[in-house]
Amino acid sequence: MNTTTVSRELLDRYNKPGPRYTSYPTVPVWSANFGEEDYRQALRDFAAQPDAKLSIYVHLPFCAERCHYCGCNATVTKKDSVVDAYLDRVERELQLVTSILGIRQQVVQMHWGGGTPNFLNTAQTERLFGLIAQFFDLDRTGEISLEVDPRIGSRQQFEVFKALGFNRISLGVQDIDPQVQQAIGRIQPEILTRSLYAHCRELGFESVNLDIVYGLPYQSERTFERTLQAIIELGPDRLACFSYAHVPWVKANQKRIDETALPSPYEKFDLFQMAVDMLTGAGYDWIGMDHFAKRNDEMALAVREKRLHRNFMGYTTQSSPHMIAFGMSGISDLAGHFVQNNARLGDYQKTLDAGRLPVVRGHHLSNDDKVRRKVITHLMCNLELPYNLIEAETGRRVPEVLGAELERLRPFEAEGFLLFEPERLQVTTLGRFFIRNLCMELDAYLEPNTDRPLFSKTI
Ligand code: SF4
Repeated sequence: MNTTTVSRELLDRYNKPGPRYTSYPTVPVWSANFGEEDYRQALRDFAAQPDAKLSIYVHLPFCAERCHYCGCNATVTKKDSVVDAYLDRVERELQLVTSILGIRQQVVQMHWGGGTPNFLNTAQTERLFGLIAQFFDLDRTGEISLEVDPRIGSRQQFEVFKALGFNRISLGVQDIDPQVQQAIGRIQPEILTRSLYAHCRELGFESVNLDIVYGLPYQSERTFERTLQAIIELGPDRLACFSYAHVPWVKANQKRIDETALPSPYEKFDLFQMAVDMLTGAGYDWIGMDHFAKRNDEMALAVREKRLHRNFMGYTTQSSPHMIAFGMSGISDLAGHFVQNNARLGDYQKTLDAGRLPVVRGHHLSNDDKVRRKVITHLMCNLELPYNLIEAETGRRVPEVLGAELERLRPFEAEGFLLFEPERLQVTTLGRFFIRNLCMELDAYLEPNTDRPLFSKTI
């Protein structure tokens, strides 16, 4: 695919701060008054739906050192004992949650994220996996995945993951250029990435994925083209190409990034457009905002069949609408409720030591939230808004439900971002670059034209 030309003038007008819509409503809307009893009720509501499918996420926050560009919820430590103490609390959380669920629920999808999940040693990894298998009925044919940092990975470690039952693995690469790696505080020789990637293939993981980042210091079209070429040569099944959000006022570690070396917004956009062109030219389909999958991958197929979903773990082909998260900062999405755990390690642990669930905020979705959530998610994943989706959800005609919002979207047709077809709104290739802007018009909580310092810009 050779994507369409995007003018500087369009970028200037639409490069606005806005949510990435991993949830709707977005986290800043959620209430700190949502407490432990609300979470217990959400778990009971889920348990009352006997056929509901469940995904679980485990947050493992530990890293050996902090990368300058990091925007994750990470905790630096060198000590195994700190990890052991954390796993004690995750075990306690598993006990509390499953005692409310009542039965050993089936889990169709599991993901370990971080931090660095492969910071855990073998005994810790086996312990955590064993705990989850003890408390849940883990469907071994479902997606069982984790993120790894190749800098501390080894073939022996990956053998343990495979033997336990992980069938998908994501390797963080970010960029292969030595100067970029130096500038972001993450030295990862290309040869290391290549050899660990080869081990993953030899071990037969069903899906081996890579993550890269654009918008980093010293990235140029020349260096990023080289990174993309190396990635294409490796041939991951899926690839995430994340935008670097430089927010040093929120993430103090980013103050170590030399701002003068960052690409301008125009240059950054060009890097992403180059990624889209090169990857689609190499046999990948562009998925959602910033993911790519080989054309024969299940995820690419799901997009073609308009059935891609999105949850806090990312894009997924699983239709499971319920997710329970364990660990600090984890976000659960359960039976019409969002629940977030405490993101401070000490507080997360103390609350569990007191025998309570470590909830800090949450949100009960109203009927209006549920409709908008469905619409925004479908738009972000499948690049269309079929009117019958809204009618099926509400039993009402589209103009009665989202008439004002559709009118606000009209001017985007003139910009070339979408088409108003008789049965649906269809996002164009140009509109894909501005999908967040389109979704913002459907967001009932965003005040128009206000500053949104919590959110990164579209580009
Ligand atoms: S390894 Fe990942 S999570 Fe850990 S500090 Fe670096 S970017 Fe952050």
